[in-house]
Amino acid sequence: MQILDGKALSLKIKAKAKEDIKTLKAKGITPGLAVVVIGDDSASHTYVRMKEKACEEVGIYSIIHKMPDDISQDKILETIGMMNKNPNIDGILIQLPLPKHIDTTKVLQAVCEKKDVDGFHPFNVGKLVLNLDTFTPCTPLGVMKLLKAYKIEPKGLDVCIVGASNIVGKPMMNLLLNANASVDICHIYTKELKAHTKRADLLIVGVGRANLITKDMVKDGAIVIDIGINRLENGKLVGDVAYDEVSPKCSFITPVPGGVGPMTIAMLLENSIKAARSR
Ligand code: NAD
Repeated sequence: MQILDGKALSLKIKAKAKEDIKTLKAKGITPGLAVVVIGDDSASHTYVRMKEKACEEVGIYSIIHKMPDDISQDKILETIGMMNKNPNIDGILIQLPLPKHIDTTKVLQAVCEKKDVDGFHPFNVGKLVLNLDTFTPCTPLGVMKLLKAYKIEPKGLDVCIVGASNIVGKPMMNLLLNANASVDICHIYTKELKAHTKRADLLIVGVGRANLITKDMVKDGAIVIDIGINRLENGKLVGDVAYDEVSPKCSFITPVPGGVGPMTIAMLLENSIKAARSR
């Protein structure tokens, strides 16, 4: 069993990002990223702080717009409109989830597609489906980079993705389909999850439920990617895969933490640089 070390790979990507940004700065371009975070969800604020720190490390100028939980949708749309027009901002990121009274689709659609570094705008989602160059959502893109770094070729593999959200499972499905894998995607209404997971050469799980995937659900020699992040009552951070019992069966597996999480942030840096280059 080999560990897919997202932490180590993300450090290499960050070092390259730092060099790329130096080159951009020499041409008078400082990449700028604006992050909108609404309400006081503590996980959202933790993720935003991590993104801010990563930007600082590589030389991306970042502004964090914190808005109260009861902010009106019009005010959010107005703020995004200003960011769209600001020539110093290359990327705009709306930290999800948004409060219940806000229409998430409307807000994501308000972001200029050229500044959509999260790849959540319907225009960019469509381009991803068509396998055209676009901004790809950071978490699935990070998984693809991790596979590539370990020379894991998705072509022809039987893949099972558990979790079908717009930000994780669905873009992951499109990327793997575009890479010529056969993709099976499961969710809360899947009748017999084990029948699907057990067949997979490559099993990717992004649900948000600790220990959802146990050893009896995994094929011998499978590659397992754990996207889930769960905080246990004792404070420990774990994924969706019962790591201790599943890992001995795998050819490759991502740890949590230190697997997909750091890759997500590294991809945000890459997408921000890509946006700045097209300024
Ligand atoms: P979500 O709640 O939007 O979607 C969860 C998906 O899992 C849905 O498709 C749902 O149908 C499915 N699901 C729920 N319970 C299930 C079950 N018992 N069996 C099978 N499918 C089930 O969540 P999300 O935003 O996609 O995030 C999923 C997980 O990934 C969370 O733990 C989140 O913290 C994590 N995440 C990690 C990163 C990272 O960088 N590592 C990034 C984004 C999300």
